[in-house]
Amino acid sequence: MTAQLIDGNALAANIRGEVATRVAALQARGVQPALAVILVGDNAASQVYVKHKVADCEGVGMRSILDRLPADLSEAALLARIRALNADPTVHGILVQLPLPSHIDASKVIATIAPAKDVDGFHVASAGALTIGQPGFKPCTPYGCMRMLQAAGVDPRGKHAVVVGRSNIVGKPMALMLLQANATVTVCHSATPDLGAFTRQADILVAAVGRRNTITAGMVKPGAVVIDVGMNRNEAGKLCGDVDFEGVRQVAGWITPVPGGVGPMTRAMLLVNTLEAAEATAG
Ligand code: NDP
Repeated sequence: MTAQLIDGNALAANIRGEVATRVAALQARGVQPALAVILVGDNAASQVYVKHKVADCEGVGMRSILDRLPADLSEAALLARIRALNADPTVHGILVQLPLPSHIDASKVIATIAPAKDVDGFHVASAGALTIGQPGFKPCTPYGCMRMLQAAGVDPRGKHAVVVGRSNIVGKPMALMLLQANATVTVCHSATPDLGAFTRQADILVAAVGRRNTITAGMVKPGAVVIDVGMNRNEAGKLCGDVDFEGVRQVAGWITPVPGGVGPMTRAMLLVNTLEAAEATAG
């Protein structure tokens, strides 16, 4: 039996539909939800990402402000721009596209975003709130993964979740969200010996590594839910995840594809966070 697919495209389309309805409700109350996206420099991948974010906003009736700033912009000028957006009541979410040029300290930049507008969920205030189980913005990728579990009818309570990867934007917040949902959580990383010994215990397996074929069929417990966050390219230049999809789908109970899995959900959850930021200001 092959695994059932968790269709990120379909789920993200549903979420965008719900967001559009709530945006219209806010507009009727005189609030136009708005996201400011700051792009410094001309990184090719970043240009594509910000274009998608702007188009996603348009699709649900949100306003977006795209600030394209030169690669040689000073850190001080960028911080000043963020402070101006913090103070602008018509802007509800602020996102600085990463990576930033090397002369700019990304942690300083993120720390300057007002926590109430931190729709990426990267600010230490957001990370701290997640850690102690208080309300706050959740990073979009793991937030989207939780929605995918929910859509598949998978309740993490009492399950063993294994997260491979411990970055601040994916692995760590993913582990915290699963813990909050009452899973027993194991976090693996590059210094984990015998990765398969851990992943084979997983009822829920999340791969967030950035390396093709990190998870193969022999590393997966039969019937497990496998969420593939990875975004890599194969020899032919085709987008693929961290999971050997064809092999693992023969073993898993549920699996997310790449493309069409976590990627579209990440984009949808940014809209959810921005909407919620606007709703919070509307009371
Ligand atoms: P990082 O490079 O920041 O983190 C990768 C993590 O994987 C690290 O914790 C690293 O461990 C761990 N790792 C590396 N090699 C191994 C290994 N052999 N065994 C076990 N763990 C290993 O990446 P991100 O978290 O930012 O992203 C991960 C992947 O997800 C990338 O492919 C990225 O493109 C993708 N991504 C996809 C998104 C989407 O929307 N679909 C959004 C964000 C990211 P250590 O900490 O020890 O170095």
